[in-house]
Amino acid sequence: MASTFDYRPTRAVISLSAIKENVRNLRKQLSNNTDMIAVVKADGYGHGAMQSAQAAIEAGAIMAAVATPDEALELRTKGFSHPILVMGPSPITFLSEASKQNIAVTVTGVQWARDAVEELKDFKGILTVHVKIDTGMGRIGIRSEQELKELLKILEGTSAIKIEGTFTHFATADEKDSKRTHKQFEAFTQLVACFPQRPKLVHAANSAAALRFPEFALDAVRFGIGMYGISPSDVVKAEQPFRLKRALRLETEIAYVKQVNAIEPISYGGTYEAQPGEWIATLPIGYADGLKRGLRNQEVLVRGQRVPIVGTICMDQCMIRLPEHVSEGEPVVILGKQGTEEITMEEWATRLGTIPYEIAVTIARRVQRQYFGD
Ligand SMILES: *Cc1c(COP(=O)(O)O)cnc(C)c1O
Repeated sequence: MASTFDYRPTRAVISLSAIKENVRNLRKQLSNNTDMIAVVKADGYGHGAMQSAQAAIEAGAIMAAVATPDEALELRTKGFSHPILVMGPSPITFLSEASKQNIAVTVTGVQWARDAVEELKDFKGILTVHVKIDTGMGRIGIRSEQELKELLKILEGTSAIKIEGTFTHFATADEKDSKRTHKQFEAFTQLVACFPQRPKLVHAANSAAALRFPEFALDAVRFGIGMYGISPSDVVKAEQPFRLKRALRLETEIAYVKQVNAIEPISYGGTYEAQPGEWIATLPIGYADGLKRGLRNQEVLVRGQRVPIVGTICMDQCMIRLPEHVSEGEPVVILGKQGTEEITMEEWATRLGTIPYEIAVTIARRVQRQYFGD
């Protein structure tokens, strides 16, 4: 999968075999009646939506899920031929295209259903939908039996809409206390029972729930972050039934090396002052690549050792302090393993006060993705 432009050593190296292994391992934990939906929104959490979706399908997933209509269309444009579900809201104007491209969309509520039926009045095709039930996420979906009944009645008004599935989303499945998750599941079960005909795919579990509560797996799980080898939280990490294998490694090479011979300011603002004798190297990666400015002082790996980023991170470059002279061209691991050391998205997330999900999607498009293990 070589790209036309490949002159920059800064790249994300992605293991498709790791993705496949994570998918296979989770499938082994689930009953044979539970299918897997591979969540590849936000360009496969930064790993490449198309490649990740294909890898997941090869490992046994039946469907890809995305957040937006555009993400679904991008998969179709790239030749992805398996079922796709748009989990977020779709504008009504997307529906005929969705039907043509065999993309299932989410019914977000009563008004959406009304608008959809109106839009598809003279429509000849079939639109596949999943009805979203809000059991405690507070985002999209109907919230009561009354609303569900009203919605189902509206959808009966057209033969152009086929209800393939219904789903809910857990808000706290990654937290220690599972009370809310159990409550959400209970509420979901009650509302699912209101369908005159149980939809073919009833699904609730995200990665955290799929890994911790196999009893909530139902007809399918929506496997997102875990597919890429990242645990949703430390709680899940401690409880997960198998080791997730990280799929992404962010690496670069030393572009320039110098030894300073006096006290010298380094980078914008001159906030770091190198001491005489220090070896300072420049890396061709910066905040426009996803190496956030807040990561100053974060370490990277050179020759299997942790070395610190020093000074302000620039848009396209940053500086590190080496314990000794190292040649230009020396490999540097920004995220991933080198020797026995490892720098994880969790480590960055802690430093930045966020969650690993945000780190994964922060690695910029500009960073070349390289795939192996196909
Ligand atoms: C993002 C998302 C998922 C996947 O969640 P993970 O925690 O990454 O597994 C599942 N369902 C919905 C509705 C989502 O938005």
